[in-house]
Order: sequence, then C-alpha cells, then structure tokens
Amino acid sequence: MTTVATESTVRTTPMNPFAPRADLKVWMGTEVVPVSEARVGVFDHGLLYGDGIFEGIRIYNGRIFKEAEHIRRFFESAKAIRLELPMTGEEISAAMYETMRANGITGDGYIRLVCTRGVGLLGISISHTACPMLIVIADKIALYPPEVYERGLRCIVSSVVRNNANSTSPRVKSLNYLNNVMAKLEAKDAGADEAVMINDEGHVSECTGDNIFLVRYGELLTPSPAEGILEGVTRSVVMELARRRHIPVSEKVLIRHDLYIADECFATGTAAEIVPITEINKRMIGDGKPGPITRMLMQDFVAYRNEE
Ligand code: PMP
Repeated sequence: MTTVATESTVRTTPMNPFAPRADLKVWMGTEVVPVSEARVGVFDHGLLYGDGIFEGIRIYNGRIFKEAEHIRRFFESAKAIRLELPMTGEEISAAMYETMRANGITGDGYIRLVCTRGVGLLGISISHTACPMLIVIADKIALYPPEVYERGLRCIVSSVVRNNANSTSPRVKSLNYLNNVMAKLEAKDAGADEAVMINDEGHVSECTGDNIFLVRYGELLTPSPAEGILEGVTRSVVMELARRRHIPVSEKVLIRHDLYIADECFATGTAAEIVPITEINKRMIGDGKPGPITRMLMQDFVAYRNEE
C-alpha cells in the first residue's frame, strides 16, 4: 500500500528539525527498539501529570561516568515519589550498556534515563496505574558551544521562584521541570544564556539545569541542598576537586548581592560540566572573564573524568 500525503497529513506531521536520528535505538521497558517504535502511551501519567523521574548521565571513553551515584539518585527520586522502579540497579546498568552497544557508542555520549509512572486511568491517583515504563536513550549531547566556555555565560536572576524544598523537592529529578523551563525562557527573552533561580526566602538556589558556585576571597561557596537544589553529581566532584587543591569549600546561604560581588562564578552539571558565568543582571563578575580558580577546576575536571 502506498501512502499519499494529503493536505491534512502534511499539516499534522510537519518536518521537525529537532527530530532524533532515524537509526537511533531506545530501551523501552524490556528491550531495545528502533526510535520509530519507542512510544509512550497517551494515558501514561508521565505525560498526563509529569509523574515520573529522570537522570542525565555522561559517557566518557565508552564508560558511564559516576554510574553508581546516578543510579543511587534515581532510586532516591523514585523513593521520594513512591515509584517502584521495575528493574534493579544492576539491571538498569545492563540496560544502559546494552543501549550504548545498540547505538555503537564506544567513545563519549550521553544517557537519558527515564521512568514514568506508566499507563493508568485518568485521574492522578497512583493506585490507578500499574506498569512503570523505564526508558534509556543513549545519544550525543553538546549543551553549549566551545566559545561559551571561553567567554562565560551571561545570566539573569529569574523572577520565577524556585519550588519550595518542602513542596515536591527539587532534590527529586522529576518530570516536572516546568518551573525551570519558564526561568530558562525568561533568560532567553532577556537575551541572556541562563537564569539563576532564587527560592522563596530570597536565597540563591541554582541555575535552571545546573548548580551554581561562587568564589570570594579564594573560597568556594555554594548553596546547600536545603535551598531547593538538585544535589548535583558534578557539584560533588567539583567540591572534591577543590578540596584536593586545598581550596576551602562551604555550603552557604547566598543572596543576589553575593552574586554581584563574587570574584568568580560558574555553573556545574552533567551536560555543561563546568561553565564559567561572567555576567549576572548586567553586572560583570570579577573582570568579566572566567577566573583562575574556575579555569583550574575546569582543567582538573577534564583530567578527572578521563581517569575515572
Ligand atoms: N540542577 C538541576 C535542576 C539539574 O537538572 C541538574 C542536572 N542537569 C543539575 C543541577 C546538575 O546535576 P548533575 O551534576 O548531577 O548533572
């Protein structure tokens, strides 16, 4: 049978320039399938209510970076929302490596691990859902172009208030990223690269998809998990790398003013790694260039991830 493109099919299926590669393979539930068959049901509560969790993980030199830490956080997110993961940590690891193999990833790459609450009845009750759906996508990622690491990010402080840590905690890497999406949108509308988010006490929390660090008087400062942040895997690595360099590190309450008067500032995350921040609300940070401690940690991070 030949399919004829009618006006209505053309209208409902526009060419998406961001569509995944047609030959991509995705782990869906129990096996790897072609991306064209990787579908989530419209009754899945992940879609209907953002009811589910995820992880973003790096692959360096064919190995999953900080795998145990990511799997642990995935299980902690699941526990917090009472989502029973359908696989053990070992099985998830095996599924990730199988998905990498299916896509021929032997060098660097990125894994998106997702578990949705699964298909259920309409209505938000989790007792009306049965089968959580575990998904593994293994692909490439490039968050920022190389020049951004040279010039640094230009940020705004967002008017979108970070979710209260006693609401659905930002420590849960949930499928509810709308708050972060809105803050990122505000940054783009303002002509900036990123947004720093303030919590409802007026304290700095983090960026929309990265943790934030400041340097002042040679000391590294970052908000504590109580401020409504994700406890980033990269954040922990950076704190460890700083200690190895005998740079004092502390979790501290920070406000907008601390951002403006910082000597250096940078963001950390799995996709971004360490990226300098050189402007916040039109205030130049330090001398407007990535600072010496930031640069040193960026170099140390590259060495660390290549050794791991
Ligand atoms: N904060 C948020 C909101 C995130 O989504 C992420 C992950 N992209 C991070 C911080 C950084 O965490 P990690 O270093 O574990 O990637």
